[in-house]
Amino acid sequence: HSKYNNLGFSFYTCQMEEAVVRKVLISEKLTTAIDEGNLRLNYQPIVELKNDELSGVEALMRWEDPDLGPISPSEFIPIAECQNMIDDISDWLFRETACQYRKWISEGFEFTGRIAINISERELAKPNRVTEILALLESLGVPPETYEIELSESAFVNDTGHTQENLDALANAGMIIAIDDFGTGHSALWQLRTQKLDKLKIDHSFVQRMESDQATRDIVEAITAMASLLDLKVIAEGVENLTQVDILRDIKCCYAQGYHFAKPLTADIFASDWLEKAQA
Ligand code: C2E
Ligand code: CA
Ligand code: CA
Ligand code: CA
Repeated sequence: HSKYNNLGFSFYTCQMEEAVVRKVLISEKLTTAIDEGNLRLNYQPIVELKNDELSGVEALMRWEDPDLGPISPSEFIPIAECQNMIDDISDWLFRETACQYRKWISEGFEFTGRIAINISERELAKPNRVTEILALLESLGVPPETYEIELSESAFVNDTGHTQENLDALANAGMIIAIDDFGTGHSALWQLRTQKLDKLKIDHSFVQRMESDQATRDIVEAITAMASLLDLKVIAEGVENLTQVDILRDIKCCYAQGYHFAKPLTADIFASDWLEKAQA
């Protein structure tokens, strides 16, 4: 950073500039990454807490660039949203999961759960996006019932137009709708009562604070109780240890996901460790 200081720039300007340069670089490389097939998916099991059995799986995107190394989806997804690349990424996601699903079935694995995928708020804010998604799935020969859509809570709060109708259309087509990162988006459950929602994922920040903080534990318990009255299933995310599992069982939370059960896994390891071979 010193060479800029000599030119009279402040250190902060320089840091900001570096961040901008990285963003530009990432958005350029991302286009190639999609075209050249450098994106990957990991699969993280979602378990039922009453028996620790597999209930579903969340697909999480991975990207390793030869120069920049691994880049987190938390970094490149927002950039893709800004650069209007999110639909391309999402098309890739549907294609990849659809192919993977068919591969598991053809290899004789039994999978009765759904594949949960993350959809960005930007994507669902557009008119007609759902028509495109459903057409794509039809061309891939995979029914919409294969999917569960995770949408961050903030998308519900910020909805200025099409999010709701798009979600309704996805739900009507047979997808399950889950609200992601619940507790961080400043909505209230009563605001969600009219929505076609099936599940609610309690943000990992609550799960992690629950152990040391009674108030957080009470909040998680209250969310779970209210959700159950509204017929919403609750998934706790970011579950890392048995203490958290015990608390969640105590407060009658039914589903969980996190390193305690499994990290996000490659498709093959997920299949061999978590999917059963169907009886011949
Ligand atoms: P998310 O949907 O909330 O995903 C959960 C994140 O928590 C994942 O990070 C996962 O690897 C991580 N995680 C899972 N278990 C644990 C645990 O026990 N402890 C801790 N500390 N973390 C855990 P990841 O994979 O880096 O994804 C970050 C975010 O990027 C996701 O948050 C999601 O918002 C976004 N994202 C990932 N894949 C996609 C995608 O295909 N499309 C879109 N639009 N967004 C995606
Ligand atoms: Ca998610
Ligand atoms: Ca989440
Ligand atoms: Ca998140």
